[in-house]
Amino acid sequence: MNATYDVVIIGAGAVGSLIARELARYQLSILLIDKNSDVGEGTTKANTAIVHAGYDAKPGSAKARLNVAGNRMFEILCGELDIEFDRCGTLVAAMDADDLRTLEALRERGIANGVPGLEILDAAATLAHAPALNPAVRGALWAPTGGLVDPFQMALGAAENAVMNGVELALETLVTGFERQCKRLQGVVTDRGTFYTRWVIIAAGLWADDLMRKAGLTGFNIRPRKGEYYVLDRRTAEVMRSVLFPCPTPVSKGIMVTRTIHDNVLLGPNAVHVDDKNDLDVTAEGVDEVWQGALKLVPGLDRRDVIRSFAGLRASGSTDDFVISIPDEPQGLVVLAGIESPGLTAAPAIALQVCEMLREAGLRLDEKPGFNPLRRAVPRLAQLSLAERRVLIEQDPRYGHIVCRCEGVSEGQVAAACHGPIPARTYDGLKRRTRLGSGRCQGAFDLPLVIDIMARELGISPLEFTAKGGASRYLVNPEEAGG
Ligand SMILES: Cc1cc2nc3c(=O)[nH]c(=O)nc-3n(C[C@H](O)[C@H](O)[C@H](O)COP(=O)(O)OP(=O)(O)OC[C@H]3O[C@@H](n4cnc5c(N)ncnc54)[C@H](O)[C@@H]3O)c2cc1C
Repeated sequence: MNATYDVVIIGAGAVGSLIARELARYQLSILLIDKNSDVGEGTTKANTAIVHAGYDAKPGSAKARLNVAGNRMFEILCGELDIEFDRCGTLVAAMDADDLRTLEALRERGIANGVPGLEILDAAATLAHAPALNPAVRGALWAPTGGLVDPFQMALGAAENAVMNGVELALETLVTGFERQCKRLQGVVTDRGTFYTRWVIIAAGLWADDLMRKAGLTGFNIRPRKGEYYVLDRRTAEVMRSVLFPCPTPVSKGIMVTRTIHDNVLLGPNAVHVDDKNDLDVTAEGVDEVWQGALKLVPGLDRRDVIRSFAGLRASGSTDDFVISIPDEPQGLVVLAGIESPGLTAAPAIALQVCEMLREAGLRLDEKPGFNPLRRAVPRLAQLSLAERRVLIEQDPRYGHIVCRCEGVSEGQVAAACHGPIPARTYDGLKRRTRLGSGRCQGAFDLPLVIDIMARELGISPLEFTAKGGASRYLVNPEEAGG
């Protein structure tokens, strides 16, 4: 790795990865650091994955401006980076007269924020859009610019494209502090050594406030707010094709029922303050709250369709708006903090804003000849026509060997994921790149096959293969374990 970088970015979530990709357009040496074993393993992997239209945030706030600006960028971004995206529109359902008044207020807010096409539908038009919705619905706010995306692929696609264009990536690297010379930061201290740099960008999600304090900036705190979810079997998406929000509560957008980009159905999230930034436990009370909330919108849900639960943590900051700033001191620092929802939607616009801020602060941004904005994901076999599959199988017969029956994922895809610009090195990394193990059997069928294939492709012993890095090994040597 270089001795001195122009820019070191801490955090390879959607925000840090998109910044890395945006800066990779210029003649700069850049290092992207994350403490996890893969990119996108923080809040980016566990959220509702909605590309919000932008009617929620307070007019004039950074959230509102960057939500609407980010939303407009998704066709080009997802086209260039081969990320699944569907601008399917979203509905906020009103169940009583109070809710109807809320819809009016949301529409006004949306108009003030510059959201196009907002429309209040009556009950009949709402049910025509979403036949599974509670028949007691009184109306809905239709936002045609809302959509669905694969959030992990946003981080992976951006980070892979950044790496293809010369950005260095250091995973499993924990930032523990900074080196400073007089008023300026000059180094990022990690458990793998110190990286010297002209600029540091903190894009560390839930941990942004801890790193700000380490850089000498006090007064900003993040209090995590947990959101729990149920995932339903794909077959339910046949009935539930819409993106349904209830009317928002003072602390969240409410428990929603939505199809996902992968044609599952997602219920959630609730909103519970927690003190521990690692607390991703799903509680019985939490998912029960989610279930009851979801039933209010879609009474016909069947609990037997639940295949998984998970939780994500919102990086709720003490300012109630995104913090995106270059402080006077220490110099050489860009801070991104409190990037809670709609952070995913806003991320592409945040990345552009950070580049402009750096340019204004004196960083020379000379375009890099040969920058390639295109990146391809691992082939999605299940979405290809038979003719397209045949071509792939002729090129590499491993595409004909299905290892995940639920999601139709082949050995060829596993191998491709192991040799991408940012290789899958864990089961979770493979799952997020290919969908393997995400279906009804949740990996029961594929896991033994995959351990062998991954060990072969990565040149490791099956004993070294992990779920998510660290100590999360699947297999133990009985001699080592004393058995
Ligand atoms: C329940 C929930 C629902 C949401 N729904 C939506 C939605 O539908 N639409 C939407 O637009 N937004 C949504 N969001 C918000 C969105 O998920 C976030 O705004 C976005 O993912 C933030 O990305 P990030 O890159 O800032 O953070 P992260 O993805 O958390 O990335 C930060 C990275 O920094 C790394 N890091 C932290 N500290 C260190 C350190 N010391 N050293 C090295 N690395 C470090 C972490 O490992 C992590 O990978 C939701 C969030 C939650 C929790």
